[in-house]
Amino acid sequence: MIIVVSGPGGVGKGTVVRKLVERDPALWLSRSWTTRPRRPGEPADAYVFVDEPTFRRRVAEGGFLEHAEFLGHLYGTPVPDELPAGHDLLLEIDVQGAEQVRARSPEALLVLLVAPSPEEQAARLTGRGDSPEQVERRLAKAGEEIAVARRLGAIEVVNDRLEDTVDRLEELIRQARAGHRPDPMP
Ligand code: ADP
Ligand code: 5GP
Repeated sequence: MIIVVSGPGGVGKGTVVRKLVERDPALWLSRSWTTRPRRPGEPADAYVFVDEPTFRRRVAEGGFLEHAEFLGHLYGTPVPDELPAGHDLLLEIDVQGAEQVRARSPEALLVLLVAPSPEEQAARLTGRGDSPEQVERRLAKAGEEIAVARRLGAIEVVNDRLEDTVDRLEELIRQARAGHRPDPMP
């Protein structure tokens, strides 16, 4: 099964998926490639950081499950040829990527993570070290991203208290493994 966690910047996607894999050893978190420079303080293994020619070569070779441009940089999920048996593939990707995954794997579970408010989203981005300009750009993109995810029928989860969010995602994954898909919020 493929599980996609998507949503605007700063809502807590990375934090939530890291907690999920700590709790559930049957989840395998894909490491994306990106042409974005590493942020100060960002772990070196957050992404495979590459230059644009290297990224484009891999696109040409068909080496990505999906890829997209986001705020001027390229991001992609490598084809998961090392996915261990019995594991579900967990992707933390933008909504364009979610749309590509949905087209390839209609049974994939799509989760749209949102912040409790735009103010809280801005505070999280600032707290993470994003510049005022980056905060502005990510906030400006949020409405459109949420609209795309809703159109795809993603299950919406508000990331208010972190532990509650991780509990909710665990429950959604448990249900999806059992073949059940809850209805998206109206
Ligand atoms: P994203 O991957 O969606 O861009 P991050 O995981 O980088 O977001 O989280 C942005 C910031 O918000 C980080 O500093 C993180 O520690 C913080 N954060 C994540 N989830 C919560 C939460 N539920 N409550 C408060 N802060 C959070
Ligand atoms: P950031 O620069 O904040 O790490 O990520 C920017 C956006 O790119 C986020 O929405 C993140 O989920 C998304 N992203 C990260 N990896 C991938 C990927 O492999 N594919 C796609 N389509 N988006 C990704």
